[in-house]
Amino acid sequence: MSSDEITRRGFLATSAAAAAAAAALSGSGSAAASGTAVDAIAVPDIFVRSAAGPILVGSQNTCKAALGLAWEKHAAGMALLDAIVLGINTVEDDPTDHSVGLGGIPNEDGVVELDASVMDGPSGLSGAVASIQNIRNPASVALRVMRYTDHCLLVGPGALRFAKDHGFKEENLLTDDAREAWLYWKATLSDKDDRFPKEVAQLSPDVKNWFGITGTVNMGGLDKAGNLYGCTSTSGLAFKIPGRVGDSPIIGAGLYVDNDAGAAGSTGRGEANIITLGSGMVVEALRRGAHPTDACKEALERVVRFTRAKHLVRADGKPDFQLKFYAVDKTGRTGSFGMFPGEQFAMCDANGPRLQDCPGLIGK
Ligand code: ASP
Repeated sequence: MSSDEITRRGFLATSAAAAAAAAALSGSGSAAASGTAVDAIAVPDIFVRSAAGPILVGSQNTCKAALGLAWEKHAAGMALLDAIVLGINTVEDDPTDHSVGLGGIPNEDGVVELDASVMDGPSGLSGAVASIQNIRNPASVALRVMRYTDHCLLVGPGALRFAKDHGFKEENLLTDDAREAWLYWKATLSDKDDRFPKEVAQLSPDVKNWFGITGTVNMGGLDKAGNLYGCTSTSGLAFKIPGRVGDSPIIGAGLYVDNDAGAAGSTGRGEANIITLGSGMVVEALRRGAHPTDACKEALERVVRFTRAKHLVRADGKPDFQLKFYAVDKTGRTGSFGMFPGEQFAMCDANGPRLQDCPGLIGK
């Protein structure tokens, strides 16, 4: 008998017990009639979860390779959190993705500075690193913080030292095109200094599109056993002040997982998310039974209410920045919502990875 068959037999046995218990609970049968003891009342919850997973949800950039790899590895037996981190690593390793890892847009000193976090539903543990330099896979370092320390968050030189202790290699993550963008940004800061910017027409085609870009990678997932996990990784805001930490490594902001409710993560303006505890709010809405799409929308409405500073609002008083949430609940429903419309999110189930439209809260 193959292990798949064993799993399927176990699943069917669980399902039968669950159906009986569910019938007892709904009044369409009785515990005595079905032979189900009161102890079995916990089973229906497991049944609902088992029927749904695995399901993955993520930011748009996970659709290129990350979701497919995570799915494949998990299907081959890898624990889902490890598979998610491996998927996120493909985005961190991609020099053409300027929101994370190698090729990330640097801080104002021209140094790529990274934040990442992981959260594990079954254990209720998390790990994170912030402002870590020269390590291309901060998501993997965050996983090690969770597994091999009693801490939640390591920052800066301490995070780098920890990563090196664990065998991660230091390298310069500033690619030539990211350097070109940084030099252009620096030279256009003032017309009273001695730096002359290139003409826009002289810039490499890609670089022209980078100014004001935001980006991050997030993936959440529900496994076959109904457990929830998540990971977020980023190079943060372009040309940030060195030492600035965004929402991605802050548990409750850029990532939150509650094994009883759901997993949520975010991309976009981290400051707005930290102030409003975005991902934590999304998960609380999931706990109340909200659909993930509505839960993400609710967190954004809170961001709108909190955004009053003049430099953050447009003429109509609405936020002038993008922020998006991604969520999966314990029954396997997925959803996403953005401050602005016109973007997409990614998800993966047995039908493979695909992009879906992400609704927006306010017009552009
Ligand atoms: N959320 C990230 C941060 O604030 C940036 C982004 O997603 O654009 O660091």
